Amino acid sequence: MSPIDEEQLQGLKGLREFLQRRTSYDVLPLSFRLIVLDNDLLIKKSLNILIQNGIVSAPLWDSHTSRFAGLLTSTDYMNVIQYYCQFPNEIDNVEKFRLSSLRDIEKAIGVQTLETVSVHPSRPLYEACSRMLKSRARRIPLVDIDDETGRETVVSVITQYRILKFIAVNTEQYTSLLKKSVREIQLGTYKNLATCQMSDSVLDVINLMVVQNISAVPVVDKNNTVLNVFEAVDVIPCIKGGAYDELKSPIGEALCKRPEDFQGIYTCTEDDRLDAIFQTLRQSRVHRLVVIDDRQQLRGIISLSDILKYVLFYGEDVDYFSS
Ligand code: ATP
Repeated sequence: MSPIDEEQLQGLKGLREFLQRRTSYDVLPLSFRLIVLDNDLLIKKSLNILIQNGIVSAPLWDSHTSRFAGLLTSTDYMNVIQYYCQFPNEIDNVEKFRLSSLRDIEKAIGVQTLETVSVHPSRPLYEACSRMLKSRARRIPLVDIDDETGRETVVSVITQYRILKFIAVNTEQYTSLLKKSVREIQLGTYKNLATCQMSDSVLDVINLMVVQNISAVPVVDKNNTVLNVFEAVDVIPCIKGGAYDELKSPIGEALCKRPEDFQGIYTCTEDDRLDAIFQTLRQSRVHRLVVIDDRQQLRGIISLSDILKYVLFYGEDVDYFSS
């Protein structure tokens, strides 16, 4: 084994031990707020609440059973839009749907229903990560049991972004050992990339994201040069106020509705090393990296789940890693 291979494995081992030693509680800030929505709320009202509070997801609560009922995310709104496209005569009913109907909408449009996974906040962080990756969830609720009532309580929700930020900020001694390049470790997806053009409609791109179960689509020109990335969260401002007809407008227009504090898109090349990617994660608000070549043309995409999967499973369980 070459010294660089050895160092890489040593870095991964250090990161895995770190994730076993820390709990999900450790990732939470000292003070935070949590907005939980009642499952009986109308879907269109839930959207206003997310927008008013500047959030993109919320745990759901079933007040009939006093139990956690899953997570509301931008994927759910995309599913509602997909439903509206498949059953245009149902528009009056769409207005009346409650959050509790989201699972029926998934079934009606034929998408895979996400398992409602959760984790206890004092379990090792490694467990939260591995549950999230195995269920393909992008965030995981921390559910505890109240000592007095014996009932479930949702403590918070942690995302892949927050976990990777926590790793990047606290483990430089290990991430600095990850000197292999993106190409060498084959990080990310390079085949069958879903892309769109500025003139494509928002509806077309939502359809692409729902069918392929992805949360971002690079926007390219006819030469495959990367111009931007349309993300699942970009759907929320498009449907504000129930204006589903605006979804027929082009992606270019929808991208103009991004909030003023939008952080921009991040790119890298296949020659960039994983330690440099962790450096970027440490310093910036990165949700994915678009891999480009020296002519700015699209090569691939590295999602946060690709990075987390590599950190947790590379060399451990080859079957799972390659799936
Ligand atoms: P999030 O980015 O919302 O935190 P995630 O990290 O799971 O979630 P996704 O965009 O859903 O990211 O990516 C899931 C898988 O699909 C990853 O392996 C990623 O490389 C791949 N992928 C992402 N975007 C595309 C795309 N446009 N075309 C093809 N594959 C993609």
